[in-house]
Amino acid sequence: MSSDCLFCKIAAKQIPAKFLYEDDDLFVIGDINPQAPLHALVIPRQHVGSLNELSPAQDALIGKMTRRAAAVAREHGYADRGYRTVFNTNAEAGQTVFHIHLHVLGGRSMTWPPG
Ligand code: AMP
Ligand code: ZN
Repeated sequence: MSSDCLFCKIAAKQIPAKFLYEDDDLFVIGDINPQAPLHALVIPRQHVGSLNELSPAQDALIGKMTRRAAAVAREHGYADRGYRTVFNTNAEAGQTVFHIHLHVLGGRSMTWPPG
């Protein structure tokens, strides 16, 4: 755990959040500032700052996060309609929390390219 990391604190239940799912490796919460009817964050318990810090040891974890994102979208009825999954990395992409997380957005039409 990184002591001043928001998502490490949520993982440790030191800060409340709306948990949609959790297991030994990861958890899913509702985003506090949702940008779509479904806006969930898939977050590993392990502290990894961004995609830039991933190593081969985390390959299975990223696979698990991706499959969980699909499961959350399916559970909310968006598997066929479509949904968006996003990792923001560093400043120009708008990353604000430096503990890796996969956004899952669904329930409205999305534009491309993203803003
Ligand atoms: P990013 O900008 O990609 O780093 O995403 C961080 C996300 O975390 C944003 O969408 C925020 O709205 C969300 N967020 C910030 N604080 C909380 C919190 N306490 N609980 C749930 N989501 C949060
Ligand atoms: Zn952390």
